[in-house]
This record gives sequence, structure tokens and C-alpha cells, in this order.
Amino acid sequence: MWGERGTNVIDEVNITFGVYNGQSLTTKGKITKDYFPEVTERLITKINITPNLTTMITGHGNTKNYLHRFKIIDSPECPCGHNDQTTDHTLLECTLLSKERDSLISAVSRTDDWPTDKHKLITKQYKAFTRFTNQISFDKLNVHNTLMT
Ligand SMILES: [Zn+2]
Repeated sequence: MWGERGTNVIDEVNITFGVYNGQSLTTKGKITKDYFPEVTERLITKINITPNLTTMITGHGNTKNYLHRFKIIDSPECPCGHNDQTTDHTLLECTLLSKERDSLISAVSRTDDWPTDKHKLITKQYKAFTRFTNQISFDKLNVHNTLMT
């Protein structure tokens, strides 16, 4: 099941981009729109899509908020204890990722204010942003996930 879901996430981001490139904006399309107000082929092909990046961009993936929404786990709350584990929480406030976020903030701060808009993260700040997202180990963060029975 877990392996299958990994594959589905990749499929999902393709579908998401496909949907957004077309017309109908779904919920996931809206999240993606923060990152891609104007989607261009050039931009998409440049992006190396990893499961974590997919999660951050679409909100669909390994966050507890997502897993809880689909009744895979009992609680959406992040192990840091401060909030539900959404992608924004992960990106902006989770104390468990302070160190990783500090590197991202210092990279972004060279040219922009933090927090910067998401479109900038995926374009101008792409390198620092993907470094941050790919450093996140959701498995490690969520080691106390309890599967619903
Ligand atoms: Zn947290």
C-alpha cells in the first residue's frame, strides 16, 4: 500500500499540472497555483519532481494533515505539538525543521524577504527550496504515526 501510494503521488502531480495547464481548477490545483500562477512548459520540464516536492506543492503526500484527511492516521497534529502538519506548517513554522528552514531562509534572504511567495520559491529560489524539501524526512518526523485499524 505504501509503495503504491508513492507511485500515485507522482502520478498525481502530473495530473495536477495537467489539470492546471487545462482549465478546471480542483482543490489541489489551487494549492499548486500558489507555486505556479503562470504555468509554462519550460518551467515544468526544468523541475525535478520528487515525492517531497510533490507533497509541498500539491498538499498531497506524506503530511499528517493529508493522511488524516484520508483516514489513514488518527490525528493531523504534527509531532512538534504546535499545529496540524500541513505543507504550510512544514514550510513556515514546524520547530522540528528549524535547522533546515534556517538554511532556506538565509539563502532566500540574500535577495528576498522571508517568507517569500511560493512562486518565487519554485523559480528564483528553486535550488534552496528543493534542498529544503528534499531534506524533510516525513517518515522520521512522523515516526509515531499510528495506522488506523
Ligand atoms: Zn511541526
